Amino acid sequence: MLPEAGSLWLLKLLRDIQLAQFYWPILEELNVTRPEHFDFVKPEDLDGIGMGRPAQRRLSEALKRLRSGPKSKNWVYKILGGFGPEHKEPTLPSDSPRHLPEPEGGLKCLIPEGAVCRGQLLGSGCFGVVHRGLWTLPSGKSVPVAVKSLRVGPEGPMGTELGDFLREVSVMMNLEHPHVLRLHGLVLGQPLQMVMELAPLGSLHARLTAPAPTPPLLVALLCLFLRQLAGAMAYLGARGLVHRDLATRNLLLASPRTIKVADFGLVRPLGGARGRYVMGGPRPIPYAWCAPESLRHGAFSSASDVWMFGVTLWEMFSGGEEPWAGVPPYLILQRLEERARLPRPPLCSRALYSLALRCWAPHPADRPSFSHLEGLLQEAGPSEGCCVRDVTEPGALRMETGDPITVIEGSPDSTIWKGQNGRTFKVGSFPASAVTLADAGGLPATRPVHRGTPARGDQHPGSIDGDRKKANLWDAPPARGQRRNMPLERMKGISRSLESVLSLGPRPTGGGSSPPEIRQARAVPQGPPGLPPRPPLSSSSPQPSQPSRERLPWPKRKPPHNHPMGTPGARKAAAPSGGLLPDPELQRKIMEVELSVHGVTHQECQTALGATGGDVVSAIRNLKVDQLFHLSSRSRADCRRILEHYQWDLSAASRYVLARP
Ligand code: AMP
Repeated sequence: MLPEAGSLWLLKLLRDIQLAQFYWPILEELNVTRPEHFDFVKPEDLDGIGMGRPAQRRLSEALKRLRSGPKSKNWVYKILGGFGPEHKEPTLPSDSPRHLPEPEGGLKCLIPEGAVCRGQLLGSGCFGVVHRGLWTLPSGKSVPVAVKSLRVGPEGPMGTELGDFLREVSVMMNLEHPHVLRLHGLVLGQPLQMVMELAPLGSLHARLTAPAPTPPLLVALLCLFLRQLAGAMAYLGARGLVHRDLATRNLLLASPRTIKVADFGLVRPLGGARGRYVMGGPRPIPYAWCAPESLRHGAFSSASDVWMFGVTLWEMFSGGEEPWAGVPPYLILQRLEERARLPRPPLCSRALYSLALRCWAPHPADRPSFSHLEGLLQEAGPSEGCCVRDVTEPGALRMETGDPITVIEGSPDSTIWKGQNGRTFKVGSFPASAVTLADAGGLPATRPVHRGTPARGDQHPGSIDGDRKKANLWDAPPARGQRRNMPLERMKGISRSLESVLSLGPRPTGGGSSPPEIRQARAVPQGPPGLPPRPPLSSSSPQPSQPSRERLPWPKRKPPHNHPMGTPGARKAAAPSGGLLPDPELQRKIMEVELSVHGVTHQECQTALGATGGDVVSAIRNLKVDQLFHLSSRSRADCRRILEHYQWDLSAASRYVLARP
């Protein structure tokens, strides 16, 4: 009865803690084939196979040691963990990727390829497509998920996109907030896949622009979303991250009253004492959402995210309109520097608009922080009230006793208020006496409904016409109906419709509102890479044979061990996978290779050993060359040189190539 070579680590682990008798139950009944699978094993599962609690504690300790040990073989974990601040890469030159904080959380989970099945297409972004999916846990339970798959070119994944994809994973895996989309894990398959929490109601932008009969979103709900967003952004800011792509297209609806910040592809860590990130080269950014300092200098900070928050607020209250629609991209910065601002949408109260204007302060230091915004939003938010008598006067907002009313504009000294009827979704003016405010304990309002400072140039309190005049003065975008199908559709998946800041010079033509394609074709590096100083080499191990130059398919991962047909006993008697002869020495070698190169299959290890005449070191090196080759656009010879330089440390070499796609 031979153990599966791919799970010998488990046997070894259990033997070390005198629990070898649980090897088959863990493998067969709990379906654990990799250490990460234990993430989903509950104490009750272990109870179920007869393991006592003291033994469970021993197992848990052993697993901790296995994972934190200096010889963790999970190279993706290392690559991603390598973006953390603790990670020092002294040999990398200064243009290496900036480090993201908090690496200690590590990958939440590596998910076996066969455990996820993809269904309906949900959308596509800059480096892949997103499908609805079902993730089957080792316990057999299925969880609905969203699966983002890395786009793969004919020659494997594109370096830049792979880098962005892994960066998104590395950011998301450390985040845990009720209004930040959760990453469940990563599938190291072909293609690479991110398994995320499903937001079944799609993007907020799609909801805002949904045609009738879908009702519009209530003002009170939009204000709730704004508070959720400010909380999530304060959380990101506190972790030293700048999102750089805040917009309603990147807010997903997890439930009718819950938004989640998503799309972390452009997230960057805030570097240096100035707490900002400066772009190192031409990259896509969302023009109409950007702060002037981002457009002019490529500088991003929490304060530029706050600017984007203001634009997102504007989108929400404009029914998903495109900001600065009709203004050629190269003119947007000019307008902003001339102090032009997006106009107040009719549904937006003066207090909230005043807040948006503060977010659009020309100097980043003058903008409120997100944590400050959370409080300001609470103050500026509309008051909730209840209709106490039927209103049928001509021209007034119709309401019936008991209708929930959101007061958008109103003060105790004014007899006419403006608000939204929560039952009919209609907005209009009504007699103040018809509504009691909820927070006044059923009494008539005795304080101003809004305490925010008045908006700049806002000289027509309570007058919607006044707002319209101002909108015209400030180059308001065309009316909603005209804009319905304007280029915002193309903004889904920012990169397809955004431009590089470095191409910001005036354009010879009027340009129109549809920015050109911005993602730059990636230049494949020519010749050998410019390597950092070579560290002293420690050994002169035998050189493996030169692998063939043709590009192999992206390595396939083994599907998880599903229960075989028949009884567990039938499986135990079967020959090990891959047709391997039960030669203990070969088994040992295969295990050594498999444990040294994460993600390779049993069959690949066997083939690699066959090609090197059983030389383990050479087989490991050849497989590492393969891994690096598939991770980058470099030749195998380059990959070998880089690996030699890093003394065959695959994670260090991977970081190097990911930093220079
Ligand atoms: P992205 O690549 O993140 O920009 O995603 C592209 C599109 O896929 C988004 O605009 C959403 O419509 C959809 N999408 C992305 N992630 C999810 C998710 N977790 N749940 C539901 N839809 C999603």
